[in-house]
Amino acid sequence: MGAASQQTPARVVVVTGAGRGIGAAIARRFATQGTKLVLVDVNKDQLQQLADSLGETGCEVLPIPADISCKDQVQQLFAQVVEKFGSVDVLVNNAGIIRDNLISNISEQDWDQVLGVNLKGAFLCCQAVFPTLKNQRSGKIVNIVSRAWLGSIGQANYTASKGGLVSLTRSLALEFARFQINVNAVAPGLIDTPMTQGMPPEARERLIRMQPTGKMGKVEDIAAAVAFLASDDAEFITGQILHVDGGKSCGLLSL
Ligand code: NAP
Repeated sequence: MGAASQQTPARVVVVTGAGRGIGAAIARRFATQGTKLVLVDVNKDQLQQLADSLGETGCEVLPIPADISCKDQVQQLFAQVVEKFGSVDVLVNNAGIIRDNLISNISEQDWDQVLGVNLKGAFLCCQAVFPTLKNQRSGKIVNIVSRAWLGSIGQANYTASKGGLVSLTRSLALEFARFQINVNAVAPGLIDTPMTQGMPPEARERLIRMQPTGKMGKVEDIAAAVAFLASDDAEFITGQILHVDGGKSCGLLSL
């Protein structure tokens, strides 16, 4: 056999919310593995900038501007991916938003938006990619949840969405296992991204002080965990929630 015929075909990886922060780091990590990258984000400009810079590395990139909370857009995006690449190997449901407030001040609109992107968006993407993964009898789905799914004051909408995504992960792991499709989640702790940079400085400092490590995590820490769960090394791992949070999920610090 010639060298070309022995090469493993490049994997097709779809990352939502890829325009910046954790999603962009996940995209950069997969770009180093010679994958065909599908980058999805509502923010067209951010998306194009990342696609251009990754394209310069020689990686094949397909940027698709889309709102993952909208069923039509999700169905169109996966149709476009299958038309262009013929398969999907990895889906990373990363897009997420926060609208933090105490329960009395959470508007119905903020509740619906957070649940709509963080939970319904991931559901729509899983549902839309499933026929392709089922036909292939292979695939890896990694959902980005949050350590906050365990509970967090002032984030009832966000924690409900991430707790729901944990349950969705576990249920789909069971439902998809017979088709050799793995469904896992990564639960980041406090990570330095535009999302957390947007917090009031005193709230951010307080959260850093509450970290067992005394520091925030890096976007690359999350990308490494996602790369592992999407790899062949994680073949027998499904339905699991991997906390990448500097130990925060282990309990309270005694001061
Ligand atoms: P980020 O910096 O705000 O980036 C999120 C990206 O998703 C943005 O480019 C955003 O576009 C995009 N997006 C928002 N709504 C979307 C939609 N409906 N459809 C498609 N794309 C959409 O957030 P991040 O900090 O990287 O967080 C990424 C994920 O990690 C989220 O699921 C978040 O909940 C989770 N997480 C983050 C932390 C942390 O400390 N940063 C901790 C735990 C979990 P716009 O810029 O236009 O909004």
